[in-house]
Amino acid sequence: MTEKLYDRDAYLRECDAVVTKCEKDGENYKIYLDKTIFFARGGGQLADMGTIDGVEIIDVYEDKTGHVHLANAPIDEGKTVKCQLDWDFRFDQMQQHMGQHIFSAVAETEFNAKTVAARIEHGTSHVELDRKLTNEEMFALNKRVNEVIAENRPIFINFYTKDEAQGLGLPAKAFTHEIIRVVTIENLDVNPCGGTHPHTTGEVEKCVITGTKDVRGVWRIYYKFGNRAKENRFEVFEHLLAVQDFFGVQDKTEVMPELTKLKEKYDKAFVDLQHLKAELCEADCKNLLAMGEDKGDHKLIIAHLEEKNLIKAAIDKAVLENQCAVMVTNKSGETLNLIMAMTKGMKNYNMGAVVREFMASFPGKGGGGPAVAQCTVPYSDEALALAKELIEKQR
Ligand SMILES: [Zn+2]
Repeated sequence: MTEKLYDRDAYLRECDAVVTKCEKDGENYKIYLDKTIFFARGGGQLADMGTIDGVEIIDVYEDKTGHVHLANAPIDEGKTVKCQLDWDFRFDQMQQHMGQHIFSAVAETEFNAKTVAARIEHGTSHVELDRKLTNEEMFALNKRVNEVIAENRPIFINFYTKDEAQGLGLPAKAFTHEIIRVVTIENLDVNPCGGTHPHTTGEVEKCVITGTKDVRGVWRIYYKFGNRAKENRFEVFEHLLAVQDFFGVQDKTEVMPELTKLKEKYDKAFVDLQHLKAELCEADCKNLLAMGEDKGDHKLIIAHLEEKNLIKAAIDKAVLENQCAVMVTNKSGETLNLIMAMTKGMKNYNMGAVVREFMASFPGKGGGGPAVAQCTVPYSDEALALAKELIEKQR
């Protein structure tokens, strides 16, 4: 059993330890120590990085064999080694992890939003809350979290037996352990946790929310703490300057009015485009009908067209508003389309059978039933010739 020194002192950056076992694991080696300063990944926190006697650790995890330090070189069993922690990486983890404690505690106690999941990533980390927050609530939550950080409240780590832990208000899952490790933020939160934590909230330094997303009904909030948050300020500043430059404005307050104007222009252009499309569809539909051959109870329209993007809409309109059957070959760039449709209720043709016969020689994407069928294949003169032949047979 490896003694986890970080359980009682998260600030230990180095220690001496004895290698109790070293075994090959694929291309790597599993190294076991009598004690360790390296946190094993879990609880949403990443594994520590560092070296054992100069050998770089590539992963740290716990499994049924014990506390595994994975490395790409062996170390002799029984040897006393020097463990060296990558402190910058660890402290970043402590800031992100403690930041999440504070964020979740404030979200639950002051904004009635419970944390359902949390994860630290190498870039932006996130928490998932059980309800969506308004922008105003998000801004207020961000402000409160930064206030708690600035208040520099002490953080305590305590160990309790199950009996001693009764009455602390811990969740039931905490009582699966014989000894329960509890992290307390003074006057804010009491939680069972095996992670690494700083001594005070002030060491988290800062919180910024960088984005939100609705994920499977829970509200994911992306955030950064500590040095990551400070670096984020400069990145945001650079992005904002680029946006101001794009709009040719000198101050950030001018950006939103410019965006609003742009949105209004876009909305108007979109409506104009829809009208133009409808007019074009109307004209295409008239042209199709003009090509129609009178078959007594319906019109048969056979056409071979090139580069007609809206032809499908024109065909739909033709069969909806008239008693007709439309069979079109359409060369569009490097593809050939067969588009076939007839008015609902007609039984004069079997469009799906024509498309299937064509695709037996030229496989592509498509299919359909007796009334409506369509396919797309790579263009070739031979494919076009067969499509025309099959369609002309329907006259
Ligand atoms: Zn924790």
